Amino acid sequence: MDLNRSSLKVLAEGLRTGAFSSVELTSAYLDRIEAQRDLGCFITLDRERSLDQARRADQRLAQGNAGPLTGIPVAHKDIFCASGWLTTCGSRMLSNFVAPYDAHVIERFNQAGAVILGKTNMDEFAMGSSNETSFFGPVRNPWDTARVPGGSSGGSAAAVAARLAPLATATDTGGSIRQPAALCGISGLKPTYGRVSRYGMIAYASSLDQGGVMAPSAADLALGLTAMAGFDARDATSVQRPDEDFAAQLGRPLEGLRIGLPRQYFGSGIEADVARCIEEALKVYESLGARRVDIDLSYSDQSVPVYYVLAPAEASSNLSRYDGVRYGWRAAQYDDLEDMVTRSRSEGFGAEVKRRILTGTYVLSRGYYDAYYLQAQRVRRLIQQDFLRAFEHCDVIMGPTAPTTAFPFGAKGGDPVQMYLSDIFTIGVNLAGLPGMSIPAGFDGAGLPVGLQIIAPHFAEALLLGVADRYQRETDWHDRVPALNGGQV
Ligand code: GLN
Repeated sequence: MDLNRSSLKVLAEGLRTGAFSSVELTSAYLDRIEAQRDLGCFITLDRERSLDQARRADQRLAQGNAGPLTGIPVAHKDIFCASGWLTTCGSRMLSNFVAPYDAHVIERFNQAGAVILGKTNMDEFAMGSSNETSFFGPVRNPWDTARVPGGSSGGSAAAVAARLAPLATATDTGGSIRQPAALCGISGLKPTYGRVSRYGMIAYASSLDQGGVMAPSAADLALGLTAMAGFDARDATSVQRPDEDFAAQLGRPLEGLRIGLPRQYFGSGIEADVARCIEEALKVYESLGARRVDIDLSYSDQSVPVYYVLAPAEASSNLSRYDGVRYGWRAAQYDDLEDMVTRSRSEGFGAEVKRRILTGTYVLSRGYYDAYYLQAQRVRRLIQQDFLRAFEHCDVIMGPTAPTTAFPFGAKGGDPVQMYLSDIFTIGVNLAGLPGMSIPAGFDGAGLPVGLQIIAPHFAEALLLGVADRYQRETDWHDRVPALNGGQV
């Protein structure tokens, strides 16, 4: 049995029946990660710590009180604090920070008996769409190592694509789960805002940040979401709802499903192969009984500008805590307190983070607050209303996740706005707080994966996963694995 190619369900069954132990499974993944170090997927690995957790999972399995994720190794984006683990957020600023506590998400996976496989690489403070801004170096796309994996959760996405982890956590502020999932040919789910606690998830833009999951298939994502979602009093925006079975609609029939196609998501600027794959995916859905409905998201061209006012504004406030005093990077030499803070921040943050802090401080400053920040908040509401109105006519919305497939390193380095446009189809979903997914829907002429985005109304994750899963029962794009160096497939 190929441990690296099996679904979570098959792995859980193997653990339960004793076909293999969690120690064996975890070791198999760690060995594979070691063989693929060049991809740059992980910032921190700690074999002993992982195997220790695996041994405890094996005891629990032996006692017969295991859950569906007991003994399953999970890779965590390095934005989640995990007690005793280096937690860097991809930044020099936190390059020496060992978290003294667990994020709610980590707590939940620990309670489920999952094993922490390692901490994955990411754009610095989750700012980016290419994973080129990490202090720890880039992540390479396993489908073509001269290309980016997308970002900011590129380490998690590339790890799942290369089958270095069966499940990974990630976060999405403007597209950072869906866009890298698309560029790496895997499935990714960004839940409704408030579904997953932000406690212990290092803050970027708090009104947009949401934790989620990446895996090969929607069925695997349902298991991951079940583990991580839930109310947490320590996050003031955590939503209290009755427990839900996110797997309830897997395999559901799609007869009569209305798929909303926003006019604005199918215009110019989309690569021809991306458009072709999305069209073919829609035909599959039609063959399953779904039908197309044209919808209008008339403010969608405002989503990128609105986001790049609001997200930097929140970031500038959130990142003010890094002052070199209590934890994080501190300059070696300084004259006085002010100089210490200035030098620590100048050295600790990279160029993109500084750009965001400057922009954010500017739009919040007296004299510009009304013109930029307040105005952006108003347009954010209009964007949300666009979606709510659209959902009066359709059950889900579909379109491309990203306008292009994976681009080469450096391709957008010189022009931040070009980089920001990578998220043109994903950002609106965050502004509206909706759940969204990306699932593999084919390949371009160069063999690079294309992602189909599916968006659902608030709290309709079960529907979203059901709609994705039904497609994955008809297609095998999500089972395709890149050929890797060293011949390991
Ligand atoms: N690429 C977007 C940004 O740089 C989104 C990042 C994210 O979702 N964390 O802000």
